[in-house]
Amino acid sequence: MSHYAKDFPILNQEVNGNPLVYLDSAATSQKPFQVIEAVESYYKEINSNVHRGVHTLGTKATDGYEGAREKVRRFINAASVKEIVYTRGTTTALNIIASSYARPRLKEGDEIVISPSEHHSNLIPWQQVARATGAQLKYFPLEPDGTLDLKKAEETITERTKLVAIAHVSNVLGTIFPIKELARLVHRHQGVLVVDGAQSVPHMKVDVRDLDCDFLAFSGHKMMGPTGIGVLYGKESLLEEMEPFEFGGEMIDHVDLYESTWKELPWKFEGGTPNIAGAIGLGAAVDYLESVGMDEVDAHDRRLAAYAVEKMKEVEGLTVYGPTTDRTGLVTFNIEGVHPHDVATVLDAEGIAVRAGHHCCQPLMRWLGVSATARASFHLYNSEADIDRLMKGLQKTKEYFG
Ligand code: PLP
Repeated sequence: MSHYAKDFPILNQEVNGNPLVYLDSAATSQKPFQVIEAVESYYKEINSNVHRGVHTLGTKATDGYEGAREKVRRFINAASVKEIVYTRGTTTALNIIASSYARPRLKEGDEIVISPSEHHSNLIPWQQVARATGAQLKYFPLEPDGTLDLKKAEETITERTKLVAIAHVSNVLGTIFPIKELARLVHRHQGVLVVDGAQSVPHMKVDVRDLDCDFLAFSGHKMMGPTGIGVLYGKESLLEEMEPFEFGGEMIDHVDLYESTWKELPWKFEGGTPNIAGAIGLGAAVDYLESVGMDEVDAHDRRLAAYAVEKMKEVEGLTVYGPTTDRTGLVTFNIEGVHPHDVATVLDAEGIAVRAGHHCCQPLMRWLGVSATARASFHLYNSEADIDRLMKGLQKTKEYFG
């Protein structure tokens, strides 16, 4: 564990008689005291609904909720808090874009381009849009190491391409996709670029104005915040012209028997009582990450991934998937002749938590020619010593099944 681990109370425990090594942060990250305490103090001290009451607690809850939005805005360098919509997570954010932006605008003859490495959350919504509108779903070709050749990407995007949706970082391969360059290509044809930031925002500096993406979706729980809260960033001009996603309380301005009008951005997309504690916890997570510095987080996670890849190269019969260089803090692998579920089971007996399965990327598993893989993913609280434990566990796995 790294010296940051002391901030994460959950890590101070034994699992199956061994000190816990948590290597599943790509699924969900652990939470520091600061986040846990922010959520707890909201419920203990100011629990109230937002944007309604004139009473003191209601005002404090609203200040906490809206104050966190400003923290998120600053964190991703959005131009305005109007561009920061709270959602349940990445999945909901992507579905809002699919339903409220893409469905009413796309038609037969248009194209949606995505990559075969997308998480199901950034794949199925586009299948559904294609089905509903008659638009064609196309895929970028991937290079054998799971990277994107920009020349080939340029050939895939045409004047018919109205929308490109791609993960900034693949949750299986660790590939960092060239978002800035893709934005230029997509905009050249007047399309919009949707970025799934679920695996990038928690680990590196993401600046939406520098990237010039049109939409960005991410989840609080992968960036040390609570579950059930996430963010849809959209350029104000695009969000402005979109219809709301959900209708009801909180998102209305004026309601009549047959006609209603909506609140201004971002609230027109936040129907119903929101996840107030979640938003406040997300704000605390942003504070935590910023106190470390995203450059430090990025360097730390990449260093661990590089260390793990180096160690894994020494293991006979072990295949690492994805690019050899320029990858983020996760390593996906298989051991010849051992099912990844068995790998994860042996490691669990040693107190080491890794993920095994298709990682919500079934088309990518087929592209890799496997049914499943094991994945070790890192965050600030991990250290080289955790990877040494993982490597010992993998040796044991090989001995056990060998
Ligand atoms: N996209 C990517 C790349 C992910 O890794 C994940 C989560 O694993 C998601 C989307 C979905 O995130 P959530 O389940 O928080 O909505």
